[in-house]
Amino acid sequence: MAKTPQILLIYTGGTIGMVKDFKTGALRTFDFDKLLKHIPEINHLNCVITSISFQNPIDSSNMNPSNWVIISEIIEENYEKFDGFVVLHGSDTMSYTASAISFMFENLTKPIIFTGSQLPIGDLRTDAKENLITSIEIASAQENGRPVISEVGLYFEYKLYRANRTTKVNAEHFEAFTSPNFPPLGESGVHLKFNKQLIYKPTSIKPLKIRKQLNNNVAILKIFPGITQTVIESILNSKGLKGVILETYGSGNAPTEKWFLNLLSKAISNGIYIVNVTQCIGGSVIMGQYETSMALEKIGVISGNDITTESALAKLMYLLGENISKNKFKSFFETQLRGEISLIE
Ligand code: ASP
Repeated sequence: MAKTPQILLIYTGGTIGMVKDFKTGALRTFDFDKLLKHIPEINHLNCVITSISFQNPIDSSNMNPSNWVIISEIIEENYEKFDGFVVLHGSDTMSYTASAISFMFENLTKPIIFTGSQLPIGDLRTDAKENLITSIEIASAQENGRPVISEVGLYFEYKLYRANRTTKVNAEHFEAFTSPNFPPLGESGVHLKFNKQLIYKPTSIKPLKIRKQLNNNVAILKIFPGITQTVIESILNSKGLKGVILETYGSGNAPTEKWFLNLLSKAISNGIYIVNVTQCIGGSVIMGQYETSMALEKIGVISGNDITTESALAKLMYLLGENISKNKFKSFFETQLRGEISLIE
């Protein structure tokens, strides 16, 4: 008989476990064990659940790379003992954390599913119960004794996404996330259905490697009509800066003014990596399609292809921590490492 899956539930904070402060009316984090009592249903799931909580659960606006390392260490310490992991996290920065975890875990063979909710679990109209219960079911799903999912996923409002393809698009709707450039890995309705042809399948069993050397000497620079030289200069001259996500227009286009290109070019020759990512919600950067992106390609800007800004930022911090040569950096960034960009035909 197949063994009952063992699931580790990791509570980091976020609305899902919050309560209203009776004095101020603002939502604040709360003891998660007490909140789990609101969902006795989880005891009926076909798995054994163990839960662990951040000592001080946080609103995800306070998440940072040190917290990502804490999450990775909790999973690392428990990797052999459990069949799947569910991380409860605030939705605000969930796509950043989940993308970072996807890069940090190399040769992952077990599911790590991120979820949260727009309303606290104790709220009558909460979306937390469905998100939590289905995430646990996804993390426990097995076929021929192997997990169905062996990558980092994000489950929210009936859809399972590849985490490093997601972005938060709505602060109010229960459907808070989307994955603009990659279809969902699964959908929950009457049945829980997986898009098996899209799910990552490990081809060989290599030892798990966890990359914790993240370098956050980075910036996101969103260009806009009228952006001044002073602003760009002050960002590119920031002390210790190692990499920039340049959010450009459309398929990777930016002003062709001399001062702008000169500043970028100077930064690149000073060893700063600049990655071109589109401001558009969907689609890809194609440098060279327009004259306005050709110059960027010429001066050595790296293409982010169809990566999301969240994933690009995580990939940048991860690759900067790896101390690789300039050429390797560009080629790794432009290669699909964890399914975060589409393969270019
Ligand atoms: N501010 C909350 C957080 O990200 C929102 C949420 O959980 O959905 O922690």
